Amino acid sequence: MTKYALKPVTCAVCDSVSEQRTLQCVTTFERPDLDGRPSEMARSTMDVWVQTCPACGYCAMTLTQAAPSARNVVQSEAYRTRLHHPGAPALLNQFMCLALLQDAEGLVRDSAQVRTHAAWVADDAGLEDLARRCRSEAADLLLNAPPLKHWERREEPDWQGWRGVQLVDLLRRAGRGEEALREVERIRQVGASSLMKQLLTYESAAIARGDTGRHTVNEGLGLPLPPERRPANDPLLQYLLDNYWRLVTDTESKAARMETFNTEEGPRWATDNPEVLALLAEGKAGLGRALERRLLAEHPDTVIINRCPKCGAPARTSKARQCRACPHTWRESPR
Ligand SMILES: [Zn+2]
Ligand SMILES: [Zn+2]
Repeated sequence: MTKYALKPVTCAVCDSVSEQRTLQCVTTFERPDLDGRPSEMARSTMDVWVQTCPACGYCAMTLTQAAPSARNVVQSEAYRTRLHHPGAPALLNQFMCLALLQDAEGLVRDSAQVRTHAAWVADDAGLEDLARRCRSEAADLLLNAPPLKHWERREEPDWQGWRGVQLVDLLRRAGRGEEALREVERIRQVGASSLMKQLLTYESAAIARGDTGRHTVNEGLGLPLPPERRPANDPLLQYLLDNYWRLVTDTESKAARMETFNTEEGPRWATDNPEVLALLAEGKAGLGRALERRLLAEHPDTVIINRCPKCGAPARTSKARQCRACPHTWRESPR
């Protein structure tokens, strides 16, 4: 779901008021592209990621705020030329103007991010050369950026190295394969999660075949798996999750939802989290059995495992009297 709102905004550079569209909420279901571009619905909301003052041409994420250098930049020749550049979509020009403002403030990573957004606009417009140029500029900024403080720790452990993967993808899609491969090596040495290492392997293969096209994280992980390789939804585990989800810990719930992804050595769980991996040591069925043992031990008065008296399969709910696995129905309490 995507919700917008229109509201009057005062420009921090020229004080004029204009109506601007803002994003109230947006839902995204899938994993992003390898260069970080979100999947739908967020993918199609780029036109509200930058606001432009119709009076002075100031471009910002929020017009109500401006850095000290903004006024001079907005009045500069380079900025005016960029804003009205006839050879590019208006939205791309606005992103590039925002990048110029960030350059003036020394916000290297923000500028790289916004230039990447500009590349996405160029992608959508089919302007391949322009897209490559925007990506190349973003990559140059990132290659020369000072290292982030604590950047590894703030990431989700399973996404450690994700920023690096995005940089590799920018370089690959800019046609700078050799530099991309150097970056792959560097990230492997700095350390990345299994998930991100798989994406780096995928990137290396794409670079080797000269592929500069768009690919997604899911493609890199080989997801979704073909049905025959998908771990079966364990009926006991599903029964416990459906009926006793309040009693299930975060780690158990994470393990229950865990997917596998493809690697050169075969499929593996999509996490490095040792607690989750321990719960999944005997697969989803093992997790179901362990969860059953724990819940029955800790909540003997609450938890009822309602099994079909004929075949032993768990029913849908604790009160169901109909089997899901065989045609059997029963009246009397199964216990
Ligand atoms: Zn203005
Ligand atoms: Zn049955």
